[in-house]
Amino acid sequence: MIELTPAEIERYQRQIMLPGLGEEGQKKLKSTTALVTGVGGLGGTVALYLAVAGIGKLILVRGGDLRLDDLNRQILMTNDWVGKPRVIKAKETLEKINPHVEIEAIPEFVTPDNVDILVRGADIALDCAFNFEERNLLNEACVRWDKPMVEAAMNDMEAYLTTIVPGKTPCLSCIFPEKPEWDRWGFGVLGAVSGTLATLAALEAIKLVTGLGQPLLGRLLTMDLGNLHFAKHRPYHDPDCPVCSKISQQKINQTLNLVNSEQLTVNSVLS
Ligand SMILES: [Zn+2]
Repeated sequence: MIELTPAEIERYQRQIMLPGLGEEGQKKLKSTTALVTGVGGLGGTVALYLAVAGIGKLILVRGGDLRLDDLNRQILMTNDWVGKPRVIKAKETLEKINPHVEIEAIPEFVTPDNVDILVRGADIALDCAFNFEERNLLNEACVRWDKPMVEAAMNDMEAYLTTIVPGKTPCLSCIFPEKPEWDRWGFGVLGAVSGTLATLAALEAIKLVTGLGQPLLGRLLTMDLGNLHFAKHRPYHDPDCPVCSKISQQKINQTLNLVNSEQLTVNSVLS
């Protein structure tokens, strides 16, 4: 396994102390590539907490330029960056905060053309996209390539969080077979709300990678942050789900073999 440098051991000392994380967990984080789609109020804050925790590599994917009305929640951005691509600034800020993390910034939206390449290059995906078109593409690709996905979504003061492991938990299509009505541009959002959800999403990824605590596997956490009502639900795992039921065991095995052989290449590049 990948080793930690003395500087990294010092940097992460306070979390290495955590029972259930330790140096082994820290090495697992360093060996992990996380894909974050939608680097806005949600994804930018997810990326920040994964970076300070010592994730090995971040792949940040988000098209479009920074707008003035993004700055109430997009904490990796600065006022002078309005009009320029968000992911480039996100990479710059994160590299200043933690130069040990490798960051790849891709100024694109998730599309049918790029989603498979993005997912195959990652060990875990964090779905922070602003619309269900991108969310569904990412879910389908994660099922296809057998990659875990942390799903974080919000609408006004409500937030939703779950962790999807293909074949073991319901996928996004099982949980939301119909597109929710709040799939739209421009809903109201407060930075403290997107930030709350984002820190929990980053925590899910850290738990899944390191074995710390209990991730939300097969559980959907719903949060009404206006009234601070939190509830955990057991979403239906649809045996006839058009996304996660149609892949035969043979296809899963083929995919795993492919991914495992490519994973060796990724790890040797990182080390
Ligand atoms: Zn499904």
